[in-house]
Amino acid sequence: MAPTGLYIHIPFCRKACHYCNFHFSTSQDYRQRMLDAMIRELELRWVDWPFKTLETIYFGGGTPSILKPEEWLRFSDKLLNIVDSSQVIEFTLEANPEDIQRDRLKAWTQAGVNRLSIGIQSLSDQDLAQMNRAHDSRQAIQSVQLSQDMGIDNLSIDLIYGTPWKDHQSWEAELHWILDNRIPHLSAYALTVEEKTALHHSIRAGKTAIPDEKRAEEQFLLLSHWAIANQWDHYEISNLCQPSFRAQHNSQYWNGTPYLGIGPSAHSYNGPQRIWNVANNALYMSQAESALSWQAESETLNPTNQINEMIMTQLRLSEGLNTAKMESLSPNWLAQNRAFLEQQMAMGNLSLVDTQIVLSTQGRFLCDFITSQLMVSEL
Ligand code: SF4
Repeated sequence: MAPTGLYIHIPFCRKACHYCNFHFSTSQDYRQRMLDAMIRELELRWVDWPFKTLETIYFGGGTPSILKPEEWLRFSDKLLNIVDSSQVIEFTLEANPEDIQRDRLKAWTQAGVNRLSIGIQSLSDQDLAQMNRAHDSRQAIQSVQLSQDMGIDNLSIDLIYGTPWKDHQSWEAELHWILDNRIPHLSAYALTVEEKTALHHSIRAGKTAIPDEKRAEEQFLLLSHWAIANQWDHYEISNLCQPSFRAQHNSQYWNGTPYLGIGPSAHSYNGPQRIWNVANNALYMSQAESALSWQAESETLNPTNQINEMIMTQLRLSEGLNTAKMESLSPNWLAQNRAFLEQQMAMGNLSLVDTQIVLSTQGRFLCDFITSQLMVSEL
């Protein structure tokens, strides 16, 4: 039986971070109703979900760590009564530093959480204030120490680089801090300006500088060199780890493993289809409360979509894109792209290792452009 992952989207946050366009609400007064609705969705969908070997559970959002210990324990208890978690190898919870307290850590591990992904984003108070984060650098540092004191060593942290407020020296200091604190996994994202966010408005009003692409590129290069110098596995453009600490759940998204997503805006993948829930808390709760079977929007992937998704995800990975696989799915693909690939090789943006096309460090920064050139048009 094919393995599967379970994603749970908790759509609440304490504050709206200025750069964020995820689905969440800062209004908290219907939290219990939402949690009941999500359990109802899971009951309805798990029965028919064809993949029962559950290997990973991932609580994301939003801010899952916002739940009080008793809320969390009630919710996780119900969830674990529906699914069989006996084969789960990785149970991750996204947590923000301000929520990492002894009683919560205890409740999380009691339910089986064995990995935390901490939204640190920066160790600079100026950066954090500009991003409207709910924590400061002192809380960020303490959150890692407390998690480790309580026995959770499998930690990942998120950091954002390329902000108008972060110079190269602070970025390098943050990377050193990771080593000093024995943190085995890092997700590092360049700041992007998404439409309709407070950051977007602030830039349009001339109150915030536009993030400088050159600075982001230089900080990405610093990151890549740091990984090489310290024997970290830079296994995906935005994800790096000490050997053997790759994120199991997120790797499923990249290697085509099916996953079930529960909660408003959550996405699922079952092989032929991508399925997504309504991104509206009120509509989602009413749907769950009245549903006898689950309705969601979906798209059946045609062969062209499947090939292009493979190009998009595989080029981001350190293993790269397999040309033999591409040829079997799209005959003549290599011949059609030979001139472009040779040009990119000559520019030092990629290499061909056996049958794998692997992006170089500088090529990784151009990944979107290279991907768009290699995609196939309708078969
Ligand atoms: S805590 Fe996370 S999900 Fe919530 S607003 Fe901030 S970045 Fe977005």
